Amino acid sequence: MNNAEIIDLAHSGLLNTYGCTPLAFVRGNGAYLYDADGIRYLDFFCGLAVTSLGHGHPRVVRAIRDQAEKLTHVSNVFHTEPMARLASRLSRLFGDGRVFFANSGAEANEAAIKVARRWGHGSGRFEFISTLGSFHGRTFGSLSATGQEKYHQGFQPLVPGFKMVDFDDVAAVERTINKQTVAVMVEPIQGEGGVVTPHLDYLARLRDLCDRAGILLIVDEVQVGMGRSGKMFGYQHTGIKPDIITLAKALGGGVPIGAMVAKSEIASVMTPGTHGSTFGGNPIACAAALAVIDALEQDGVMENAAEIGGYLIDRLREIGKTTGNVREVRGKGMIIGAALTHPAKPVVEECLKEHLLVNGTADTVLRLLPPLNLTREEADAGLAIIERALRTAAAAAKGA
Ligand SMILES: *Cc1c(COP(=O)(O)O)cnc(C)c1O
Repeated sequence: MNNAEIIDLAHSGLLNTYGCTPLAFVRGNGAYLYDADGIRYLDFFCGLAVTSLGHGHPRVVRAIRDQAEKLTHVSNVFHTEPMARLASRLSRLFGDGRVFFANSGAEANEAAIKVARRWGHGSGRFEFISTLGSFHGRTFGSLSATGQEKYHQGFQPLVPGFKMVDFDDVAAVERTINKQTVAVMVEPIQGEGGVVTPHLDYLARLRDLCDRAGILLIVDEVQVGMGRSGKMFGYQHTGIKPDIITLAKALGGGVPIGAMVAKSEIASVMTPGTHGSTFGGNPIACAAALAVIDALEQDGVMENAAEIGGYLIDRLREIGKTTGNVREVRGKGMIIGAALTHPAKPVVEECLKEHLLVNGTADTVLRLLPPLNLTREEADAGLAIIERALRTAAAAAKGA
């Protein structure tokens, strides 16, 4: 089937929830994707920060293939070796954590919300403080924690017990904490919200505030975690340890998996029957995640993300000075946002014409989420396209 045939067929059967680009992909290799008409694209999007090792990474492919041949599912009534190994691995990466496996970021956050509610239950604490501009998922709990009105429209009433404050505003959190507050929930960098990077001491000051109030700090690492910032977890740039973190997106190297990791003394409030997921801990997904962690730890991938990501940020800043339509370039490692003086959409479209996949978010932010193992040559190829696209969009914005 070609692009048009696949797209027509898809829309004859799909619920209309995505405003998607009319492209259908058939295969990928490293930083490149190939569409159904045989055209090659450089991928600075990674399926929304998911395929962080690029497409068809040998470690991930081998892990999935080997596990699929052995066993694909047994349920959480039993155990499997990939699940056991991944639980132990994530527990050690976090430091004496207890892991709950889910299938997505929203579900990982649901688990975090449930653990916190149960932890606070005896003391009458149930309320969450999350931040404006945040994104935590589309299920009712995670949606209620999400600080963006547009996602709430038409779905009220939401789950009660969620308060919103400005991101990167510690004083606002302090003013909002009361006897009913159970947890503060934040992203280390707001991804969907526009790659909004807080002050370096934001998480440390939140940690201190939560300690003094005797409440939990939940850090949503769904987008920034698993090496994207140049460290395994985004909070590791700050010297603190959250009480709970959530993971998904890049964790499975393209296979759906989510995880919540909580400090063991907090996680102990969960007992058999209090939470569950049929697919959670699926052996294929866990085998893929183990391969992802191996690659991150053993192949120098995070060092590359820090180095090439830093290079991309520097070059974008230089480019922005000449094109005149870049207000600010933000980010860390391979999560990068260029805040523009006009909507990001025309830039995304210009890049697409030159077969580069990038993403626009928060209206005016051009977001780059390239593979963590991107080479300097691939970075330069993408930057050349972005520079032309920014120039074209700047001229169009001036003419308009
Ligand atoms: C994408 C995202 C989620 C939701 O993940 P899903 O897998 O789409 O449910 C939650 N939190 C953050 C920070 C995200 O970027």
